[in-house]
Amino acid sequence: MDAMSPRPKVVIIGGGFGGLFAARALRRSPVDVTVVDRAGHHLFQPLLYQCATGILSEGQIAVPLRALFKHHRNTEVILAEVFDFDVERRIVSARRPGGERVDLPYDHLIVAAGVHQSYFGHDEFAPFAPGMKSLADALAIRRRVYGAFEQAETERDPDERRRLLTFALVGAGPTGVELAGQLRELATHTLTSEFRAIDPADARVLLFDGGDAPLAAFGPKLAAKAAHTLEKLGVELHMHTLVTHVDAEGLIARDQDGIETRHRAGTVLWTAGVQAPALAQSLAKATGAPCDRAGRIRVGPDLTVPGHPEITVIGDLMSLDKLPGVAEVAMQTGLYAAHRIRRLDGGNATAKPFRYRDLGSAAYISRGKAVVSVGPLRFAGLPGWLTWLFIHIAFLTGYRNRVGAVLTWALAFSRDVRRERAFLTTGIDRRRDPYAPTAGSRSGESRGPASAPGG
Ligand SMILES: Cc1cc2nc3c(=O)[nH]c(=O)nc-3n(C[C@H](O)[C@H](O)[C@H](O)COP(=O)(O)OP(=O)(O)OC[C@H]3O[C@@H](n4cnc5c(N)ncnc54)[C@H](O)[C@@H]3O)c2cc1C
Repeated sequence: MDAMSPRPKVVIIGGGFGGLFAARALRRSPVDVTVVDRAGHHLFQPLLYQCATGILSEGQIAVPLRALFKHHRNTEVILAEVFDFDVERRIVSARRPGGERVDLPYDHLIVAAGVHQSYFGHDEFAPFAPGMKSLADALAIRRRVYGAFEQAETERDPDERRRLLTFALVGAGPTGVELAGQLRELATHTLTSEFRAIDPADARVLLFDGGDAPLAAFGPKLAAKAAHTLEKLGVELHMHTLVTHVDAEGLIARDQDGIETRHRAGTVLWTAGVQAPALAQSLAKATGAPCDRAGRIRVGPDLTVPGHPEITVIGDLMSLDKLPGVAEVAMQTGLYAAHRIRRLDGGNATAKPFRYRDLGSAAYISRGKAVVSVGPLRFAGLPGWLTWLFIHIAFLTGYRNRVGAVLTWALAFSRDVRRERAFLTTGIDRRRDPYAPTAGSRSGESRGPASAPGG
């Protein structure tokens, strides 16, 4: 691929579900595809909680993009973080790790950069309450969770020991519910017999949410079943309750009567709300595109930015008809964007509007228990769990990861074995941002042979 190539250039920002499916669908098209991603791997976010709680390894849920595209002869992968758009010249600007700039020209641009955790205007909570969006988040959570049990074991003050063994989760959507269930399971099963001074089963798990019930999006019947299952597991539900403050000691929550209570907790995890990354603001500024309340880009029926048929926004970052931020939307919009580009380049300028086919959703609660909603069907318990298992095996990226996950689950579900519990005692979640410019980095550098990703 060189600058003189007559083939249209397609730049895809993000190798998540949206970007991956778009790039795959362009594999045999007469276009040159560049996938630029700040992390360099495709992450299976729906199983992050299993990595955080020690069932699956990082490698089982994250696959190098370079490996995924090694047989795509028209596709290259760039490890860099996109930060700006020149829509007149059709160039996106990215930073390599270390801060140096890379400019990527395009004929078609697909923006699939996903969303970030939202602290609803309280970003100061973030250092005390990690969210769960990236591999770094999952590993930081793993360290905090297992580190809390370790610290409790040698803590002499009973009050402090109780605090260390209290885990507070903010947000009772699928991620909060999945984590809450896992924490009680590892406390009551996996860690049994491993400690001498503490009983891990004493660990309290508190789940806070402003709504009526956990998993409210699954409808009242399944939400009630989820609440019942969680309570049986020992999760303490605090519904109709808003968390108003988080600090190193725990959190303060306000109930529906306006009464504020401090809950001492050694670990607070944030699983509520999403917001668009700064990249969306840059795109909105460059194109004049409207954004929704979470900062996501509002797109037209063909998923393009108004006035810019060459720029498509897909997946979590796109706002269209209140479609949910789920993997299926990202995959279907990725496929649509690729097919639209193929049609355009084939001389067919008309594109049918995007239509989402809702295939349903599933959430794991605990071993043998999940809730599933497919069309008019709602079911829970073991049938739900088997469906959950089937969906996740089918969609996990890479056949080796599928086989690995099945073997790992067989041990984890039958014998409570969690093999992936290693964590670093150094502050892995406090490392310098690799994309922050360094003293020696040059800005304004254009992409050339010397600007291959490194760092
Ligand atoms: C914990 C968790 C559990 C979930 N569970 C489920 C579930 O059970 N079922 C379900 O359907 N959905 C689930 N989801 C949602 C689902 O994972 C998302 O809807 C899906 O990943 C969105 O895909 P995407 O391609 O839009 O974005 P993402 O998958 O988030 O990918 C975005 C990519 O863009 C890259 N990127 C971001 N910014 C930049 C930049 N500036 N420059 C370059 N690259 C960038 C990132 O590194 C990433 O690889 C879950 C999400 C989370 C976080």
